[in-house]
Amino acid sequence: MKEIYKKSNILTDAITHYCPGCGHGIIHNLVCEVVEELGIMEKTIAIAPVGCAVLAYDYWKFDTTEAAHGRPLAVATGIKRARPELIVFTYQGDGDLAAIGTAETVHAANRGENVTVIFVNNGVYGMTGGQMAPTTLLSQKTATCINGRNAKRDGYPLKVSEMLAVLDGVCYIERTSVHNPGAVIKTKKAIKKAFQNQIEKKGFSMVEVISQCPTYWGLSPVEAVEKIEKDIIKKVPLGVIKDV
Ligand code: SF4
Ligand code: MG
Repeated sequence: MKEIYKKSNILTDAITHYCPGCGHGIIHNLVCEVVEELGIMEKTIAIAPVGCAVLAYDYWKFDTTEAAHGRPLAVATGIKRARPELIVFTYQGDGDLAAIGTAETVHAANRGENVTVIFVNNGVYGMTGGQMAPTTLLSQKTATCINGRNAKRDGYPLKVSEMLAVLDGVCYIERTSVHNPGAVIKTKKAIKKAFQNQIEKKGFSMVEVISQCPTYWGLSPVEAVEKIEKDIIKKVPLGVIKDV
């Protein structure tokens, strides 16, 4: 059997706190693989969010700092401007990046800050109990819309990547997923490109990863990845959204 997936050397041996079947562990590993392959571990700084990935600093070996909820891109801006030789990336969920952090996200993107963003979108607030997020899809059930998101009452899902793509400061945005091996490989390529863009000083790059949250989707791990294939990516198509 051909091995297509293994743990990166840049991941620590800590056992993660993520639920079974969560996408975060896969995405953590991909970021570490890319950092290792690009040989940038000693100069990489991550900014972790408030959200399910709040303890990310326990899981990878490069330096990581924490930001107040929604503010990783403000912190990233400060670090990158003070130390432009460092490779700076934020790792943020949809509650962090697309709700409380919307202002920081939009303005950092519009300024064309030369940083990399890993945007993990599972359409729900995972850390706080599965409430509706800006990216919750229409008819998706959450703890605060138990009969499903209703556009008249709750508004429409926020298309963050499409919204940011129109800003002149944005260099690259791609939407990917990690629900099967092929999707994982594509996500790794996108993450690598987003880091390479920063190394080449091209400006703001973001990879939106559609990620499974079996716990608050009320599904088994297998059902969650099937839902991405059969339902979510038909509504939120994968692919390059902007590449300057
Ligand atoms: Fe992952 Fe969802 Fe569990 Fe958070 S709540 S760790 S996103 S499966
Ligand atoms: Mg989320």
